[in-house]
Amino acid sequence: MAGSAAIIGAGIAGLACASRLTEAGWQVTLFDKGRGPGGRMASKVVTAQGLRFAFDYGAQYLTARDPAFIAQVVDWERQGVVARWPAMDDDAWVGVPGMNAPVTHMAAALDVRWSMHIRALRRDADGWRLLHDEMTEGPFDVVILALPAEQTAGLAAPIDPALAELARAHPSDPCWTVLLGFDTGFSAPDTLSAADPIDWAARNRAKPGRKGGEAWTIHATADWSRRHVESDRTSVTASLLRALEERVGTLPVPVHATAHRWRYARSGKAGAGAYHQAEPRLAACGDWLVAPRVESAWLSGRQAADLVMA
Ligand code: FAD
Repeated sequence: MAGSAAIIGAGIAGLACASRLTEAGWQVTLFDKGRGPGGRMASKVVTAQGLRFAFDYGAQYLTARDPAFIAQVVDWERQGVVARWPAMDDDAWVGVPGMNAPVTHMAAALDVRWSMHIRALRRDADGWRLLHDEMTEGPFDVVILALPAEQTAGLAAPIDPALAELARAHPSDPCWTVLLGFDTGFSAPDTLSAADPIDWAARNRAKPGRKGGEAWTIHATADWSRRHVESDRTSVTASLLRALEERVGTLPVPVHATAHRWRYARSGKAGAGAYHQAEPRLAACGDWLVAPRVESAWLSGRQAADLVMA
């Protein structure tokens, strides 16, 4: 029987879960602390010295191997939300015009409350209540946590110690990301493979459907990011810019250079698919329950919805 669900986290896992529940007639509300769609499928546009730079600074591309996700990606392609990235060897797709396009598209059809940082959950006689900034939301029949493992553990600890323990056992790797904008192009391959401290670097403009100036995203390796996790943005930016120069030769001075720290970037692999507890009704989904990939997060979200409805 359909009921009401609150989903905390409107990344691709939470949105996939919400879409499936909504299709089955559930009343679903999503809460996300972010100001808009993305989660770790993050994109932004920056203007510097009159130039426009478009960056993907979380997931760089997605792959589709499960038949259900392939069908979803083909449907997104039909709607112009994703495009193949043929330059990659892998079966690679990107959001168009940015990696956040699929989540933006999904969120538009759902009831998502942005800038809502949920601090705690409480189970009352009539259902779940969510606490944020001294206010409460609810009641809801079911709560679904669609968050990285560490944030799941934090919210679950007082209400479901088993879920908190599972999440704590699968910690995420951090990832420092540097975004560089240049006022001129330069000769370099469009993507660089991993060699410490660079895990991945890419010319964003080389992806299909991108416009704007010479924008580069550099992800540091997990080891390097862990060692520098408390470093300041300026020194991280300088280190990774230097590392890029060591790979491709002297670069022009960037007109835009910033760093973003993903404290919980790449999840562990709990291998559980999704989590569900029947009483009180609580579920969890997210990449950490499968593997650190967009497709895995989407599949986990769908599986959580199925467990809730079973
Ligand atoms: P998220 O996208 O993290 O969504 C969780 C949401 O919860 C966020 O929007 C957050 O704002 C919200 N939230 C957190 N706490 C609260 C709270 N208390 N209250 C309210 N809201 C809250 N995958 C690939 O397939 N290919 C790649 O190339 C790739 N590269 C990556 C590179 C980087 C640097 C990173 C960070 C990730 C990469 N990934 C890649 C992994 C991929 O991005 C993730 O697996 C996927 O996006 C996870 O989705 P999710 O919905 O599980 O989590």
